Amino acid sequence: MYECPNCGGNLKFDIPSQLLKCDYCETIKDPYEVTKEQDAEENDVFDVTIFTCPQCGGEIMSTDTSAAEFCSFCGASTILSSRISKENRPAQIIPFKQTKEACKKAYIARMKRALFAPDDLKDEKHIDSFRGIYMPYWSYDISQEGPVHLKGEKSYSRGDYTYTDHYDLSGQIDANYNNLSYDASASFADNISEQIAPFDVRDKKEFTPSFLSGFYADTSDVDSDLYKNDAIAIANNTSYDNIRKVPAFADLKLSCTKNSFAMTTTFHTYCDPPYRVMYPVWFMSYRKNDRVAYATVNGQTGKVAVDTPVDPKKYMIGSLLLALPIFLLLNLFFTIKPKTVLAFAGFLAVFSFFIYIAEIAAIFRRDGHHDDRGYRYRQSIKEDGSKSTKKADDSIPLKDLFSFSRTDKSYRMGGAFSAVLAVAIAVLIWLLNPISDLWYYAGTILSFLGILVTVMDIIRKYNVLATRRLPQFDRTGGDDRA
Ligand SMILES: [Zn+2]
Ligand SMILES: [Zn+2]
Repeated sequence: MYECPNCGGNLKFDIPSQLLKCDYCETIKDPYEVTKEQDAEENDVFDVTIFTCPQCGGEIMSTDTSAAEFCSFCGASTILSSRISKENRPAQIIPFKQTKEACKKAYIARMKRALFAPDDLKDEKHIDSFRGIYMPYWSYDISQEGPVHLKGEKSYSRGDYTYTDHYDLSGQIDANYNNLSYDASASFADNISEQIAPFDVRDKKEFTPSFLSGFYADTSDVDSDLYKNDAIAIANNTSYDNIRKVPAFADLKLSCTKNSFAMTTTFHTYCDPPYRVMYPVWFMSYRKNDRVAYATVNGQTGKVAVDTPVDPKKYMIGSLLLALPIFLLLNLFFTIKPKTVLAFAGFLAVFSFFIYIAEIAAIFRRDGHHDDRGYRYRQSIKEDGSKSTKKADDSIPLKDLFSFSRTDKSYRMGGAFSAVLAVAIAVLIWLLNPISDLWYYAGTILSFLGILVTVMDIIRKYNVLATRRLPQFDRTGGDDRA
């Protein structure tokens, strides 16, 4: 903690003034003037307390020693165990701009539109559990400077011949791409950081540890090189696009193609050593059984991202209320033949079947962290810190996904069965073509029941998709720094 020079109270970062403010006597201090001995700038590390969740192993750190009473990653309400440690000093930080009140307001406004969300998500007490966490990022600066030579071709036909003109293009490139930043925390899913991006880097300040006072920070555990090639590719492709934009080059076929490594040489692309930065995020978790949902608010811009599960009861009532008037209206304008209704039920069943399959595939991708490089990176690091040769993947093999006997209920596909049955009934009755209309009505009712079962399961699956697996961090313990 940072002691108030006036009363010995706790100085915390105050968002409205962007300065440190004492809890008790309201003394104001410049963050750069307040340091602990160990915070001295020559050090590339600073002192922190690391809090570890006994349930999931998730870690956050703070410059404060007061107890943390819940875990932001798995939502457990439990006193986190703490230990003193040292953490790598980031180069820069964007301090919080959005107060907790503003963050809560933005979240509540968003949830007003989520009609079918469970009530807990709108509960005042729960909303108060938003926690200010600085997220670590790696930032890359890239420069391109020097002469560029490209070959171009243009082909055209005249009569029976194809002519090709060759061009030699040369010029000078002088481009800078600064502050390309990538989420450096393996516990903070990449898709969350994408949803609340971008941060305005013009607010970046030189880091000093007292900025963290009153907040938490996530530890950074992703290697600095992980995103280097991505950053270089962005620079290369952007420069390439800019060259293409020159009207004279528009219809030329260039010797150097987009997304190729050759561009790095052609454009003299150079990546400075990456540096650590910290960006502010308001973070809240919502736990239901063995799933967890996150709400995040960009602590600088106020942009909101929420995993929003659906309350099945609310949803069914809502859709019934919507379906009834539509049905009655249709009845007013058309004479609906029983055969048409049955056909409609059949199509609806096919449709719900495909939605179901698409949903399962999406859950599979998400829970396997197939699109989260930071997570997969950590999975690939062995206990002793060396890289594992094992594929970084704890996901389910694809063949298991299409098995009906899986024990993991998130992937079980039983719900698709009733849609298939509904289609079968509709087709069968259609083919038999019975004389009595009663058959069509009975068939329609059965089909709709089948669809209903599938739809209920779609909602359950949707909730799986809208939430996340409880995290399990297998931290190697001790000091994370290499
Ligand atoms: Zn004071
Ligand atoms: Zn936890």
